[in-house]
Amino acid sequence: MTYQVLARKWRPGTFSDLVGQAHVLKPLTHALDNQRLHHAYLFTGTRGVGKTTLARILARCLNCEEGISSRPCGTCEACREISEGRFIDLIEVDAASRTKVEDTRELLENVQYAPSRGRFKIYLIDEVHMLSAHSFNALLKTLEEPPPHVKFLLATTDPQKLPITILSRCLQFNLKNLSPQQIEEYLEDILGREKLDFEEAALWQLANAAAGSMRDALTLLDQAISFCEGEVSAAGVSDMLGTPEQGVVWRLLENLAAQDPAALLQSVQEVAERAPDFQQLLDAMLAVLHRLAIAQTLPAAIDNSFGDRDQVLEFAGKFSPEEIQLFYQLALKGRGDLNLAPDSRAMFEMLLIRMLVFAPEGTPTLPRRRSNDSGESRAEETVAEPDRQEDRQRAGPEPETQTRDGDRKAAARLPEEEPGKQKKKPLKRADQAVRTHLAGNTDSPVSVEKSPPTDRTSTAAEQQLTLATAGGRQRPDSNAKAEATALPVAPMALDNRNWSSLYQHLNPGGITGNIMAHCVIVETSEQALRLCLDSSQSAVFNEEHRTRIEQLLAGHFQTVLELTIEVGEPASESPALRSQRIKREKLEQLRNRFEQDDNVRQLVETFSGEILTESISPIEQRG
Ligand SMILES: [Zn+2]
Repeated sequence: MTYQVLARKWRPGTFSDLVGQAHVLKPLTHALDNQRLHHAYLFTGTRGVGKTTLARILARCLNCEEGISSRPCGTCEACREISEGRFIDLIEVDAASRTKVEDTRELLENVQYAPSRGRFKIYLIDEVHMLSAHSFNALLKTLEEPPPHVKFLLATTDPQKLPITILSRCLQFNLKNLSPQQIEEYLEDILGREKLDFEEAALWQLANAAAGSMRDALTLLDQAISFCEGEVSAAGVSDMLGTPEQGVVWRLLENLAAQDPAALLQSVQEVAERAPDFQQLLDAMLAVLHRLAIAQTLPAAIDNSFGDRDQVLEFAGKFSPEEIQLFYQLALKGRGDLNLAPDSRAMFEMLLIRMLVFAPEGTPTLPRRRSNDSGESRAEETVAEPDRQEDRQRAGPEPETQTRDGDRKAAARLPEEEPGKQKKKPLKRADQAVRTHLAGNTDSPVSVEKSPPTDRTSTAAEQQLTLATAGGRQRPDSNAKAEATALPVAPMALDNRNWSSLYQHLNPGGITGNIMAHCVIVETSEQALRLCLDSSQSAVFNEEHRTRIEQLLAGHFQTVLELTIEVGEPASESPALRSQRIKREKLEQLRNRFEQDDNVRQLVETFSGEILTESISPIEQRG
């Protein structure tokens, strides 16, 4: 007996044998059992999902000698001849090889004649989108008014290419890609019928490689059976497909989770001995990391498409979401670098080491050793999350602010008060951390939430930070403090030097603050104060600002001063100008120091460099 390929040997003969496509089978079954037949059916879907198989079963249903039904007998002459491909009234055409209009005319020449054996004359036109425009026109005439004994079954991978006139005359059914799970189950079933041994992991690999096409899956299975000689094994299949065994990826992740460099390099050694394709190994790793990220965000969304659902859920608990995101980015970057690296194994090792030593932004380096606590449950992991967040905040470089304090309390409270939402908040924050990290932002994640300080309790460092970031808004530099003098205690003591200090002390912010910063003292007495506002700022000035400044001064001196603000050219330096000057001087000093630095000079000399003086700026000091 000759060997028949699996795809043909086990081609489904009835609707119930067909895998998947329930959404198509239901209306078809209903139509057949109720004799409500259309004259043209169009089956669409990617290759190998069962379009022609379905059409052939439909031909059986229509021509079975037992009568039209969704369950053809399978034993009568017509049924047998159809499945053997020699039924005279089933005319199968591959449109790809017969695109010309003459071909179509010839094909349709005999449409008018009654079927010779069956109930219906059935035209099964595969890849119908390949027909020429003229051919479509020729077909259209018949499709519009076909004789009652004719049925058209059209199949195509590309329905977009069909003229709308054809589409509108067909009953269209879109077949779906098969899921790896459906394919794996079917392969298992077939191997059972063939009485062949197999490893389940091998079938998952085949199912994934088939990418939704059952025909491809069966062809691959045929290959695997001859390749593996006997048992269809995971190692054999991965050799055949050239894909890395999924087990390798899990082993590497296990080593990463355990923070065990020795084991990690050992694993790479083992991989390298089998002459692997590191590109594919990275792809497999990316796929797993993607699934881990999903598992951390929405565990219920993890399907068993690689037969590794339990493993994914287990590993999702071994890493923080930031780690997974970082690994993914590193692996993705590494994938691009792989072609550039002279030695792909070295490059792969570098990548893994990078994953091992680079903790996500804000995470204390090497925070956990997990080699010995594999028994830790996922639940514990979840509860521990906010604490870890807290550690990260504590390790943050910035001074405490009220906002963060509040946040931290919320995080610490979370596990007891909202057990159902345990994961949500940390994840969101983690996401933020990653985004901040990826954006190359040097701020730690918490600072994103921080609003600029507006009250007078803000520290000098924060003021400096705000000054550096808040564009045009004028605030005295903390360096001004060096020059600052004591606050005036009585109105009479006010002069333009301590006016700056007073402004800095009262610091109203907003437009009022800006107005105040551009004022200088003209005249002062026990009951009244006259200020001159720089005319450049007069556009935004109104009575409201005057009242506000008057109130602030009254609060400070404990007595009401009658305040007059006139617009003009100040005779002395306003707090704003003073702050700008100090900043400028500081920068000048910095540039001089930079240019005179021995190391810098040497660099410039060695590389024939040039210093772009404008680009020199002070580094923000924090905390
Ligand atoms: Zn039959």
